[in-house]
Amino acid sequence: MARQNYNRVGVERVTDEQIAAMAKTGVSDASTDLSVAERAGADDKVAAVVAENAPQRVSTFTPEARVWIEGNKELNTEGLYGQRSLLAIRPEDFQQRAQFLGRPLTVADLEEIHGVDTSAPASMDCTTCGKAVTSFIRTAMIGRDGDLRRNPDGNITYRGQAVTTGRPLAVHAAHTGTCLYKLRNNLEQTKKLTSGREVAKLLHSHSFEQANARLAGIQGHFNAKDQEKQAMKQRLGARTGGDAAGFSNGANFTPRTPRGKSRKESRNWNAE
Ligand SMILES: [Zn+2]
Repeated sequence: MARQNYNRVGVERVTDEQIAAMAKTGVSDASTDLSVAERAGADDKVAAVVAENAPQRVSTFTPEARVWIEGNKELNTEGLYGQRSLLAIRPEDFQQRAQFLGRPLTVADLEEIHGVDTSAPASMDCTTCGKAVTSFIRTAMIGRDGDLRRNPDGNITYRGQAVTTGRPLAVHAAHTGTCLYKLRNNLEQTKKLTSGREVAKLLHSHSFEQANARLAGIQGHFNAKDQEKQAMKQRLGARTGGDAAGFSNGANFTPRTPRGKSRKESRNWNAE
């Protein structure tokens, strides 16, 4: 609009055109879009016309995709990845995804979200019950905006049946459901929700690809630290000798926290 629409103190000024439009249409809010005001003709109809022009809510599934989802036992099972009473993907997440894409989800969209974990081995013993697991699944996570969650490298982040835990740290696996719950609850720690309720603090369950990447990342971190320690020890040793720092066994000195816990033991890479 060419005309200055604000007076000196910043209060919106109603233009002559707007006054004319208000008189013509009977809508008392000068900021109402003129085309809407002309069609509505009265205050109580403005909301209806605005709603009519809002972006359409797309339906969640194509007919084929609906058949796929209704026939999918896993995605309709609560506690699949061990979190009790929770579905791997909630209906509202699918709706968000469809809204994000601006069209109903197709079978291909659903297969991108959920399916066989192709990074898994053919078979692995369940760490919880000891019996073999011979098929593995993975499920993408849908963010609040409807986009799929991704790693910094752009790959989709998948939930799966692999958990990085134990001593030494390794990739373990479990059957879906109770077995996976028990494996993920390996630390037997709890956390407090904002509601004040205490729940089990479960370890992450990943696809095998991500569990292995996580393991390699943590091991790389330790290796780098070890190398740094070794190099420093050598430099210290060359100048002062092992006992010069005042400890009888300088190399293995393990400081204690104020609560008397070993720092080494309290460092927990699984807890997040
Ligand atoms: Zn099992």
